[in-house]
Amino acid sequence: VASRLYGGITRDLATQLEWGSFLVSGTNGKTTTARMLAALLHDAGFSPLRNRSGSNLMRGVASSLVEDAGLLGNVRTRPRGIGLFEVDEAALPGLVAALRPRGLLLLDLFRDQLDRYGEVATVARIWSEALASLPSVTGVIVNADDPLLAQASRDKRVDLRYFGIEDAGRTAGAPEHAGDVKACPRCGGPIGYSRVFLGHLGHYSCPVCGLSRPPIDVCARGVNLHALSGSTFSLVSPDGEAPVSLPLPGMYNVYNALGAAATASWFGVPLHVIARGLSRVTAAFGRMEKVEIDGRMVVLALAKNPAGLNEIIRTAVEPSDGSDRERHLMVMLNDNTADGHDVSWIWDADVELLRGHVSSVVFSGTRAPDMALRFKYAGVIGNDVQSEVIDHTEEAFRRALDLTPQRQQLLIVPTYTALLDIRNTLTRLGYVHPFWEA
Ligand SMILES: [Zn+2]
Repeated sequence: VASRLYGGITRDLATQLEWGSFLVSGTNGKTTTARMLAALLHDAGFSPLRNRSGSNLMRGVASSLVEDAGLLGNVRTRPRGIGLFEVDEAALPGLVAALRPRGLLLLDLFRDQLDRYGEVATVARIWSEALASLPSVTGVIVNADDPLLAQASRDKRVDLRYFGIEDAGRTAGAPEHAGDVKACPRCGGPIGYSRVFLGHLGHYSCPVCGLSRPPIDVCARGVNLHALSGSTFSLVSPDGEAPVSLPLPGMYNVYNALGAAATASWFGVPLHVIARGLSRVTAAFGRMEKVEIDGRMVVLALAKNPAGLNEIIRTAVEPSDGSDRERHLMVMLNDNTADGHDVSWIWDADVELLRGHVSSVVFSGTRAPDMALRFKYAGVIGNDVQSEVIDHTEEAFRRALDLTPQRQQLLIVPTYTALLDIRNTLTRLGYVHPFWEA
């Protein structure tokens, strides 16, 4: 309503913040990274104002500012105030124009909601145009391991900083099934990888035009993943090197941590404050969030696109203690607007990796049979695997919990609106707090 009454409200309110605003965008990791970055900036004496998880379009940013402002249109004064907004990929150019941010963090571009965004190359192009419009003092912090972002940020007259992973215990030999970059984003030539860490993220070069990973400002060396308990690595910045023990699992969280670290470093936060802060981060709402229920560990892991689902699958099949434990799953597929109406993306995820690792799975959500079919073709469900399709969320959850023995883990993998649904169910049953308190 406020934006309708006065179109310039977002900008007018944001400019009252002492440090202006900073935007975080990318297909995967926005919420977790913005949360990490807010914690790091807070430790360094800033007062970040954030938009609530999921409200990452223009109106979500506007609501956060309006909610914070008084009746006379004054944003609450706070020491070193800064608007820290996670922003939808397609909404980024509009928010860049409206807010004139102090800086941007660009995380990654993966295929997500084909019916809404079109191909990743289109998003990369509109991002490139948005970067070209920025004043030269704007900080632009970019994931160097994503060739689409390296190309989109190339030769831009802004304060560019790059982050990436140097080496890791676990690497994939080639870009996985869900890899979105088959050809060089600059010339269309055959892009080659010497290392792949996640999807199409890694060390690449094009033999035709010479596009390659740009020089790095902040990186992780010696990354070791420790299944669901997290990862360890050495964080290297222009200030030196510090060990980090990150409590969030998966390679994608290493990238999220690096994005937050590189940005905090650009804001002048000392390396030891960053390393200490990263070792204390907690999971964002539904992002590998753990809850103990009736003697079982229940893990909520949002998956909304092939790359995100692949990383959860890889984390799930990794043996955590040398033994190959059996997994109990509840998979929820919805096709509401916020999930994307097109669910064909599930065929681009490497569900096959779960074969032989699953002993029970309950499918739920508006498109539960589609997901069950995907698991069947992948050879994951069959002879000895207990599998059921149950529409009703609470009933499905109770059945999945029943199928999970005491002291074992139940991994719940929902799409976006399914996450809200299961989270509400768990809240109603008294197992978790409402997410706005989390
Ligand atoms: Zn090329």
